[in-house]
Amino acid sequence: MAAVDKAFAGGTLALQDMNLTVNEGDFISLLGPSGCGKSTALRLIAGLMHPTRGQIRWEGGEAEIGVVFQEPTLMPWATVEQNVYLPFRLKGQSFVQVRDDIHLVLKLVGLEKFAKAYPRELSGGMKMRVSIARAMVTRPRLILMDEPFAALDEITRHKLNKDLLELKEKIASTVIFVTHSVFESVFLSDRIVVMAARPGRVSTELTVDAPYP
Ligand code: ADP
Ligand code: ADP
Repeated sequence: MAAVDKAFAGGTLALQDMNLTVNEGDFISLLGPSGCGKSTALRLIAGLMHPTRGQIRWEGGEAEIGVVFQEPTLMPWATVEQNVYLPFRLKGQSFVQVRDDIHLVLKLVGLEKFAKAYPRELSGGMKMRVSIARAMVTRPRLILMDEPFAALDEITRHKLNKDLLELKEKIASTVIFVTHSVFESVFLSDRIVVMAARPGRVSTELTVDAPYP
């Protein structure tokens, strides 16, 4: 995105002159305190709203996007595999056609045994893994994660961070991960974009060496 501003009705300037380039295959974190405009930046990238000024450019056409929210937002009346099937269903593909893809991705997140379970039978961390599986199952070019672990207890969060680090190699997609946790951003990402507390200006960019060889 280039020279992007986002102002809300009532005058809040959530982002000011934000510039950000994301390269194919990057796993980047947007790091900053609450209210600095991280979610606003993600929503602009997702196309859920438009910038007040500036533009968001896509090389090679607009990408299909998978999104992981802070709340896992699963359909409670549907099984795990039916929840993961949702993005395919929206594209008009039959379950039989994509069953193998669904089971592969459930295996990747360690939930292959829970395909027929309902969300209420799962822990918070497991629900989050279903949500991650659903975001990656169609192999979107870009996956957006908005503080996905913020609502979880610290032990579960720590475990999911380790899982996601392992998963990272297998996702084969570009990821933008929003967090206010310095630990999470350093642990997970290749690049950290630090956003200042003042209207969303990107103040610093850090490149992180992979934590493991
Ligand atoms: P973060 O994700 O970093 O916590 P947000 O992007 O949610 O920050 O919010 C940035 C600023 O914009 C905050 O001051 C917030 O109150 C404001 N804001 C966010 N969404 C709206 C909205 N829909 N209407 C008005 N103000 C908003
Ligand atoms: P997060 O911490 O995940 O960024 P927030 O609590 O800041 O979430 O925002 C939750 C929702 O409320 C978002 O949809 C955001 O757009 C909206 N929101 C945030 N601040 C305001 C505001 N000042 N006025 C109206 N809507 C807001």
